[in-house]
Amino acid sequence: MNLKDHIIARITAEGPMRLDDYMSTCLLHPTLGYYTSQTPFGQQGDFVTAPDISQMFGELIGLALAQAWLDQGAPKPFTLAELGPGRGTLMADLLRAANQVPGFLDAAEIILIEASPALRDVQRETLSQHPVRWLDTPFDLPDQPLFLIANEFFDALPIRQFQRAGPNWRERSIGVEGAALTMGLSPAQSRPELNFRLEDTKDGDLIETCTLANTTTAQIAKRIDAYGGAAMIVDYGDWRSLGDTLQAVQGHKTTDPLAEPGRADLTAHVDFEALAMAATDCAYSPVTAQGVFLERLGITQRAQQLASALSGSALENHIAAHRRLTHPAEMGNLFKVMALFPKGGTPPPGLDP
Ligand code: SAH
Repeated sequence: MNLKDHIIARITAEGPMRLDDYMSTCLLHPTLGYYTSQTPFGQQGDFVTAPDISQMFGELIGLALAQAWLDQGAPKPFTLAELGPGRGTLMADLLRAANQVPGFLDAAEIILIEASPALRDVQRETLSQHPVRWLDTPFDLPDQPLFLIANEFFDALPIRQFQRAGPNWRERSIGVEGAALTMGLSPAQSRPELNFRLEDTKDGDLIETCTLANTTTAQIAKRIDAYGGAAMIVDYGDWRSLGDTLQAVQGHKTTDPLAEPGRADLTAHVDFEALAMAATDCAYSPVTAQGVFLERLGITQRAQQLASALSGSALENHIAAHRRLTHPAEMGNLFKVMALFPKGGTPPPGLDP
C-alpha cells in the first residue's frame, strides 16, 4: 500500500483528517513517511539546506555556540544538542570549528534529536569520529547546561490552519473526493486561544499554529533557565505569520501538498513570535536575518580565507555559496535566526539587539 491509499482508507473510515495529523503522517509514517523512507537532501534530492551549501555555515554556528559557552563560564559537563540534524553535516562542521576552543569538546555531551531511523543511520556515519547519542524528543534532554542548534527543524513540525469567520474560526482539514485528497473546512467554532489574532485579521484570513513547536521551545527554555545555555533557531519565517505558508517541495520544485503524500517535503513558515512566547522562562534575541547574522560572525573573512586555496569552478562555486547564504535575494533575508538565552544574560554573538 502506498501512503496516499493508506490516508484515503483512514479518512473513509474515520472522517476528515486534521492538517497536523496529515503533515506528521506524510513526514514521519514509520515505513512510508518522507523522512523515514529516504534521504531527501542534497543536489540529487529534493532540497538543499544551508549546511549542504557551505561548510562555513556550521563552522560559524559552532564558534558562536562555543563563544556563548565561554561567556557563561565554560560549564562542564554540558549538552551540545541539535534538533533534526538531517545528514549530520552541520554538526560535523560545528564540531571541527569548535574543536579549536580548548575544553569545549571534552565538556560536551553530544545529543541528536532525530525521529527518522534512516537519517539516524546517516548521522552515525557522518559523525563516526564523535561520541553521540540520540533522543526522540527534547523532553528527555539531561538536566545540565544546554547549548542547542536547530536549522530547518521547526518548519517540518506539523501545523494547523484556521480561517477566520466573524469572531470564530474554521479549521482546514483533508477529505477525499473520488481518488483525490481535497482540502476542506470544518464548521466555525469559537477558539478562545486564538482571540489575540482577532486584532490583526479580517474575515477569510488564514492563520497557522504549531503546538509541537511551542512545547519543544518551552522544554528548551526550561533547561536554559534552570542550568544555563543558549539555543539558536534558524528557519524561514518571521515574527507572526499570516496566510497559508504550507509548502510541498519535490525535486527542487514546489508541488501540491496533497498530490503525493510521503513523496514531497512538507514545511510551513516558522512563527518566531509563537516560539518567543512559548519560551517564557528565557530571554530571546531579536529575530535577525540570516545574512546579517552570518556577516556579523565574519563569514566574509572566512570565505576569503577558504578562497585562497581554490581556483576555477571550485572557486566559482564557493563564491556562489557565500552569496546564496547571505544575499537578501537568496537565503539571506528569507531565513531568520533567533536565540534563547538566560534572563539577564547576553545573547550569543551575532544576535545583539
Ligand atoms: N537540519 C538539517 C535537516 C533539516 S530537515 C539541515 O539543515 O540540513 C528536518 C530534520 O528534522 C530531519 O532530520 C527530520 O527527520 C527531522 N525531524 C522532522 N520532524 C521531527 C520530529 N518531530 N522529531 C525529531 N526530528 C524530526
